[in-house]
Amino acid sequence: MSKGLLIVLSGPSGVGKGTVCTELRKRMPELVYSVSATTRQPRLGEENGINYFFKSREQFLGMIENDQLLEYAEYVGNYYGTPRDFVEETLAGGKDIILEIEVQGALKVKEKFPEGVFVFLLPPSLDELKGRIQGRGTENQATIDHRMSVAAHEIGLMENYDYAVVNDEIDLACQRIQSIIIAEHCKIRKS
Ligand code: 5GP
Repeated sequence: MSKGLLIVLSGPSGVGKGTVCTELRKRMPELVYSVSATTRQPRLGEENGINYFFKSREQFLGMIENDQLLEYAEYVGNYYGTPRDFVEETLAGGKDIILEIEVQGALKVKEKFPEGVFVFLLPPSLDELKGRIQGRGTENQATIDHRMSVAAHEIGLMENYDYAVVNDEIDLACQRIQSIIIAEHCKIRKS
């Protein structure tokens, strides 16, 4: 049995990774989703084990200590990480798995799984991204400015990825990612 594909969907905060990933999973129910661990508080409607594994800081540090995470990153004061065993077992079972993670974490996954498929989701423009971050209405000006400078830095890291997908329209962005996955399955791999 051939191994599944490890697909990493990443990109700057506010670009719509979560929305695109949710829509993609509806369209590709066979695609396994990697549920991350986090120390952030659950938001309304989020469920443990479905959206995230919600952990205390101590529990999370224990997972790091015991090498249970494929990667982890600190993001806006909370830890986020990818449970290692689930990813490895899914791939060994021949299934594709998608990780929806921020840029630092994606680069760490790349060191361990260079054969993964790394997709960078882009906003149509930086102005559009600013509008989306402002549109959330939860951020003050200093935070917006900080997020924008982080986003500009992250976009500069795009060359480490295999594909760039513009999230101009959710339907189109999903079609592009589905096409990438299909193409990756057709690829002739030279060892
Ligand atoms: P949120 O708190 O909005 O759910 O997620 C914040 C950020 O953390 C998003 O950019 C999301 O992609 C990222 N994220 C979620 N899970 C993981 C993970 O396991 N590892 C890393 N590095 N980032 C993650």
